[in-house]
Amino acid sequence: ENVDKRFLKGKESLNVLTNINFTIEEQEIVSIIGPSGCGKSTLLRILAGLDQDYTGKINFDGKPISEPGKGKGVIFQEHRLFPWLTVEDNICANLNKRDEDVQQRLKEVIELVKLTGFEKSYPKELSGGMSQRVSIARALMRNPDILLLDEPFGALDAFTRKHMQDSLLDIFNNRKMTIILITHDVEEAVYLANRIIIMDSRPGTIKEIVSIPLQYPRNVVSDEFLSHRN
Ligand code: ATP
Ligand code: MG
Repeated sequence: ENVDKRFLKGKESLNVLTNINFTIEEQEIVSIIGPSGCGKSTLLRILAGLDQDYTGKINFDGKPISEPGKGKGVIFQEHRLFPWLTVEDNICANLNKRDEDVQQRLKEVIELVKLTGFEKSYPKELSGGMSQRVSIARALMRNPDILLLDEPFGALDAFTRKHMQDSLLDIFNNRKMTIILITHDVEEAVYLANRIIIMDSRPGTIKEIVSIPLQYPRNVVSDEFLSHRN
């Protein structure tokens, strides 16, 4: 509600987000698109609670996000992997225990992102798409209610990108959650999202929010397609 964000640049104050208003429903996939520098990442960081220096209100389940509460689970995907850790240790890097429940969940999550067999591999032995799946798996391990993704499939070739989009929909169908995803790829936004928030720059505002009719045969990952990829 009425979120405004300014950055200080020397003596000047730079208006980065102005009058941001929207509501996201449970189990929606929402894409944010807009020109470079319009404030998409800034907005996502604020939603993640990583930046608390803004004005306006953000509610989760009717309560301000700043209020501590259980089961909130807003998870921001961190792209970077630890090069010295194996795939499974990277996926568990943000957990403070490794009990039997975690082991079971780890197995499920690894299957979900289709990395079975690569548990003991190191990041340098993975392709770009596999690394990105590891970082998604790490976010999923914490069982988020809301998953925030900032250009999760950036810098991937078109083929791997398509595969990753379908993997994400596959994951979404397995474990319903709310996903907010920044992308520069309009086609990707239309393919994945129920709604698209279109932003504009100078200063960052919401230009339009559009609903996407479910016209595509989404959520279909063909095994044949996958077998060619792995
Ligand atoms: P891109 O599509 O290129 O990732 P974006 O929409 O994610 O762009 P942001 O990274 O949110 O854009 O940046 C929005 C504006 O805020 C830019 O003008 C940027 O220069 C400015 N900005 C971002 N972070 C800071 C910071 N820590 N200090 C000062 N200005 C910042
Ligand atoms: Mg950005």
